[in-house]
Formats: sequence, C-alpha cells, structure tokens
Amino acid sequence: MAKAVFLDRDETLNSDPGYINEPDLFSLFPWVGLELARLKANGFKLILVSNQSGIGRGMITWDQLSAIHAKLAHELMAQANIAIDQIKICPHHPDESCDCRKPKPKMILESIQELGLDPQHCFMIGDRKSDFEAGVNAGLKKSFLIIPGDEDSFRQTVTEILKIESN
Ligand SMILES: [Mg+2]
Ligand SMILES: [Zn+2]
Repeated sequence: MAKAVFLDRDETLNSDPGYINEPDLFSLFPWVGLELARLKANGFKLILVSNQSGIGRGMITWDQLSAIHAKLAHELMAQANIAIDQIKICPHHPDESCDCRKPKPKMILESIQELGLDPQHCFMIGDRKSDFEAGVNAGLKKSFLIIPGDEDSFRQTVTEILKIESN
C-alpha cells in the first residue's frame, strides 16, 4: 500500500503575510522543494490539506485559490522538479461546523481511501495544533508540529519521518 505525508500549507510550506487571496502574495519557502523531494524519492505521496475558510467568508473565490495553487505547483517544480499529488480543501466558515475542517480528519480519511494509502505509513506535518490533531484523529502513524516558518524544524521532521520508515 502507498504511503504519504500530509502537509499543512500556510507557515508550513509558505509564508503567511496575513491573508493570501492572490498568487502575488504566495511564496513557497526556499527550502521546501528539496525537503519534499527527499520524501518523494523515498516513495511518499505528498498531500496538501488546508483549511480555507476565506471561501466560506466570501474573501476568496475558488478561482483565486486555484491560481494560488497553480503558483505553488510552479514554484515546487522550479525548486525541485516535483509535484503535490493531491490537494484537499475545507472551504467552510468555522461557524458552519462542517465535518472537514481540521482538526477533523475527513480530508485525510478521504485521501487515504482515494489513493489507497496505508495510515500506518502516513504522517502529518503542520504548524498548528489543529494540524497535529487532524493527523492523530485520522489514525496516522505520527503527527509532527513544526515551528511556523522554520527551516530547521521542517528539515528535522522530514529526516525523522525517513528514519521511522527505514526501521
Ligand atoms: Mg499553518
Ligand atoms: Zn469543511
């Protein structure tokens, strides 16, 4: 069965200048490509799981979000010649109490189903407690909480995942 690393977006893969509603405001951290390439080289699929309540709040459209993620894909290709395998979005306002917004595990569980993943070989990386808990709630092997926007903690987390999987 396939293995994967689930990734939060803002402050995990890219800086968050407040609210990203256009591609110009999006910028991948310069170290992310090479680190994700290490995961890819070891057979992991990469899946973005992102709460985007701006859609539910009417602050950003699906088209704008697509344009932002096209830029993400472009930058990842430019940095390391790799691609994200799947993107899962929760578009709901927190008040809607939907069943997909992290820390709920629905986005991750859907991916596991759709891509035929083995949760015991899947990991979550994010900078917020809700990311960490989503991974735990989905029954993944391990969830990692990184320091927001921190290169060393991102790299160490990738190294730790590769170490766990090599055992
Ligand atoms: Mg984040
Ligand atoms: Zn939702």
